[in-house]
Amino acid sequence: MAKRTILIHPDPRLKAVADPVAEVTDEVRTLAEDMLETMYDAPGIGLAAPQVGVMKRLLVMDCVKDETLPPRPMVLINPEVTWSSEELGTYEEGCLSIPEQYAEVERPAEVEVSWTDLEGAQQSERFDGLWATCVQHEIDHLNGKLFIDYLKPLKRQMITRKMVKMKREKARA
Ligand SMILES: [Zn+2]
Repeated sequence: MAKRTILIHPDPRLKAVADPVAEVTDEVRTLAEDMLETMYDAPGIGLAAPQVGVMKRLLVMDCVKDETLPPRPMVLINPEVTWSSEELGTYEEGCLSIPEQYAEVERPAEVEVSWTDLEGAQQSERFDGLWATCVQHEIDHLNGKLFIDYLKPLKRQMITRKMVKMKREKARA
């Protein structure tokens, strides 16, 4: 396994629509392993392939927050939301590509998602709570959408300016 570099907003790759994974190859399995390692190391609860510069429809997540419970690393290939609840839920979201910025985002409280797993089998599951927010946030990444796109333009621009400044300072260091 190898850690990958997480792209920081703004970056055109974070605004692009990712391509479906045609086949679960060794390359795809390596990408998934690397992404899980990168996510746990960050640390974060979700990571989408475009965030490491790979324009494929693949995401990883593990929303088990209780450290006494076993981890549940999940890999979702070509995920699709097949059902969303009318009921909405609000979470304070963050993003590994937008470090140290958090904002409340309202999304369907429950979603049903289908995807292909690492064995190439079709899976489907209903998610709620933090898992529902996380999976929707990560699927958005596959469509070039960030959580700040749900915010008012002024707030979004403020965060983007902070990121531009942070990247400039990093590049200079
Ligand atoms: Zn994110």
